[in-house]
This record gives sequence, structure tokens and C-alpha cells, in this order.
Amino acid sequence: MAQSLQIAQLGNPILRQQAQRVDNIQDESFQQLIDHLIATATASNGVGIAAPQVSKSYRLLIVASRPNPRYPNAPLMEPTAIINPRILAYSDEMIKGWEGCLSIPGIRGLVPRHQTVEVEYTSREGKLHRQELTDFVARIFQHEYDHLEGFVFLDRVETTTDMMTEQEYQQRIVQNLS
Ligand code: ZN
Repeated sequence: MAQSLQIAQLGNPILRQQAQRVDNIQDESFQQLIDHLIATATASNGVGIAAPQVSKSYRLLIVASRPNPRYPNAPLMEPTAIINPRILAYSDEMIKGWEGCLSIPGIRGLVPRHQTVEVEYTSREGKLHRQELTDFVARIFQHEYDHLEGFVFLDRVETTTDMMTEQEYQQRIVQNLS
């Protein structure tokens, strides 16, 4: 059974490194890492996770959007492994939305992201895919892609007043009490 891995938290230098390209996609150890990453994201109510967050500095991320207590309005999709991703094009339109990160527990931030991104990546079967992503899924992709480049969402928050604790976020944003 796939096990849940320990998550590197902000301050761990691995989160600030540029991750390495993957050339051994079919190796059993790499396929296992994919399963463990999916299990880790699921167990933590994450909608995505990147390999550097479990201290594996590879260009691998998982997009696993589904509604859960941390993101009640997330669209439902199968967890997808995205390997050696490239962003081919961005929309000019930027949208601000609330993000959190398994590596930065307890903090939410309002982050501007491109509304649409055109991306190319290799699947876990080794097939090259090209796809246009929009809105929440595009946001997850850009957040996780940043982890491969050594960035975290706090780097993109425009002002510290766009930050909240998880508790205030749950009360003000999710339950809409403002
Ligand atoms: Zn993150």
C-alpha cells in the first residue's frame, strides 16, 4: 500500500532548490514515489503536491483537485502525475485566489495567478501531453510548478495584508462571515 510521506516545511532548504529533470519514469522506485505522493496529498486534504515537498528534488507534481475540508469548492478530478512540466503560454488575465500549502501549515494567502496556462508534460506512462488549464486547476498547476523552481506562494503574495491564519480563513472565507 502506498504510504504517506513526511512533508518538508518552510525553512527546509530543499523547498528553495530547483528540482532535477526526470529521465527514469518507468523505474519502479519512481512509480512508487508517484503513488506515495498521491497518498500523501490525499491524507493531508491537499489538492496538489510537488516532489520537493517530500524531500525528493525531482520535476514531478501531482494535481489532485477534489472537494475536501481545506478546499470545499474544488472541482473533482483523478489525481494526475505531471512529469517534467513546461509552461508554453500564459493568459494575460490574472486572478487573485486564496491558497495554502502543505509545507506552510496554518497560513493562507491571496495569490495572483494566470487564469489560463498552456502546459506540456509527460505522464507516468511516459506519454507527452499538451493541455490548456483554467481557473482552479490552472492555479494548482502554477502553485506546484513554483515548488519545482524553489518558490512558495508567500513569494507571490502582493502584501502581507493578503495573508490570514487558517482559522480566520475558515471562518471568514469558507463560512463567508467576513
Ligand atoms: Zn505548496
